[in-house]
Amino acid sequence: MYSLRMRATASGRHISGAERIVRLEDIQSVVRALANRAVSHENGMSDRIEITIEEITSDIQSISALPITSVTTRDHGEAVKVATLALTHHMIPQQVARHAIDLIQQGGAPVGGCMRGAMVMNYESGVRIEPDHHRGVRATRMDMNQKTVEDLKKSLSTLRLGERVRVIKEALSLASKVAGIGTTAEVCISDNPSNHTGYVASEKIGFLRIPYLKEKRVSVGGRIFFVPPTIDLEKYIREIEQRAVIIDQINSIRVISPGEFTEEVRDTVEE
Ligand code: AMP
Repeated sequence: MYSLRMRATASGRHISGAERIVRLEDIQSVVRALANRAVSHENGMSDRIEITIEEITSDIQSISALPITSVTTRDHGEAVKVATLALTHHMIPQQVARHAIDLIQQGGAPVGGCMRGAMVMNYESGVRIEPDHHRGVRATRMDMNQKTVEDLKKSLSTLRLGERVRVIKEALSLASKVAGIGTTAEVCISDNPSNHTGYVASEKIGFLRIPYLKEKRVSVGGRIFFVPPTIDLEKYIREIEQRAVIIDQINSIRVISPGEFTEEVRDTVEE
């Protein structure tokens, strides 16, 4: 199997990226698809496109996708409340959760704007610990096999989200891999102006889709991986970047209202 990575930039600014794991016979068609995506991205035209193809010589781990919960948030204020509550449910202090959501909306790079990878944050203190604040940490070497993509598409169709399958497949694959590597929780807002849906994900809460977490139609977004203060950062980053993972099974999928979500979280706290 081969790891394929695409990265498109304009004057060094991140435009788009993608990660796949494919068989030798599929390399050509996937390279073409990734190149097409890079030259027709809504974040603009890039002046540099890199596609890296690397044989994977290590084991490839098969894992299940996180269960999906889609919350029916109707505006940005409601979305921020749900995301904050989801993060505090992981013992992340409220001010750290708020700061994290604000930071993603400003862009995590030191000059503002998008990073290529994710910020890594001590979940207790809110301090960023990734070595490079411009680049962040990029999760690579994850994908979902075709049969599972079909299953996902069928499940999403029942929620009238079938059209969103590619975006959700990519986010769900990344989140499922990252959750299994000792990440307390992840929060993400897309950098695509047309995609206002963000998510919070973890093994504890699953993949919580939150419409309207992006406030405006802007090309700024980002990801934060919250980790415990005791994390072995070098090992963590190595696993995020190097461990090869294929999602070979989907999990449950459901829709809940923000009120139901609040009740559910409160019930687990009181248990
Ligand atoms: P996207 O969901 O692709 O719109 O990405 C949103 C943001 O998440 C990007 O601006 C990056 O900061 C970050 N990001 C995208 N892909 C990855 C990845 N593979 N690993 C870590 N962070 C990523």
